[in-house]
Amino acid sequence: MKKIKRIVLSCVLVLIIGLALVFLAKPHFLYILGEHIGVNCKKIEMNTVSLDNIKKFSLSELKADAKVSFNQSMMLINSDCQLQDDFIPSLSAYKDTDVKINECLQEAYGRLSQAVDEATGSKLFVSSAYRTKEEQQELYKEDPSTANPPDASEHQSGLGLDVYVRYYAGFGFIKTDAGQFVNSKCWEYGFIIRYPSYGKSKTGMKYEPWHIRYVGEPHAEIIYNNHLTLEEYIQSLICGDWYEVDGYLISRQKPDDNGMLSLPCDFSNAVISFDNTGSYIITIANIDSELK
Ligand SMILES: [Zn+2]
Repeated sequence: MKKIKRIVLSCVLVLIIGLALVFLAKPHFLYILGEHIGVNCKKIEMNTVSLDNIKKFSLSELKADAKVSFNQSMMLINSDCQLQDDFIPSLSAYKDTDVKINECLQEAYGRLSQAVDEATGSKLFVSSAYRTKEEQQELYKEDPSTANPPDASEHQSGLGLDVYVRYYAGFGFIKTDAGQFVNSKCWEYGFIIRYPSYGKSKTGMKYEPWHIRYVGEPHAEIIYNNHLTLEEYIQSLICGDWYEVDGYLISRQKPDDNGMLSLPCDFSNAVISFDNTGSYIITIANIDSELK
């Protein structure tokens, strides 16, 4: 009996020493493990609210309303939910570079890269932003294990960016302070790590610590803190319901038979994005109590 106890204790000791050596040699493994289990996450409640003052608006009416901005920030793009032939990304060049990104993330990416610089002293670069369908096709042909098929890649929308710092691109990015800052803080700027280490069964993609995706606020905050993937988050929004989170109202809606969406009568400003599943996601910021 004593002998068995000694063997078990020796095994445990060897395991502890082995793990300690691994983490000493590769300290970023500990960081990845923490993100994998969500040590920094603070669960956010998604409370449904009933709104009294609801009115139906046609899409054209909303598009003409100065209080509403339509963008593409909440589009779900993957192998099951591919871009349609008539999809046109809303692109613009980032600052005075020739890097084309979706215009909805221009300002947010500027703030994120400035925060990385201030926090870590490293300059954040973009290795891949918008790609045409043909460019995606080429990448997919070269290596289907690392690239999505055409029309299933976020790069065709300009919403996903591959980022790096000097000498550390790809998986090496997560070894750096800047990579770890981006992975655990990008939600504060409206971005998510689109293919997190815990999400392969939902996204179909292995961990990509370098691929950031803009979804805007408060969606990025909810996805990160509730340890979700974009697929799970969008599916969790019950069509027609309104949720109140952190001063925002959120609703996912399928247009009715007359192509109408429902919004509070006296909303002050709203962002509306098609989600690429047939619905729209409405985000109303700075709600005041009169709306409820
Ligand atoms: Zn990418």
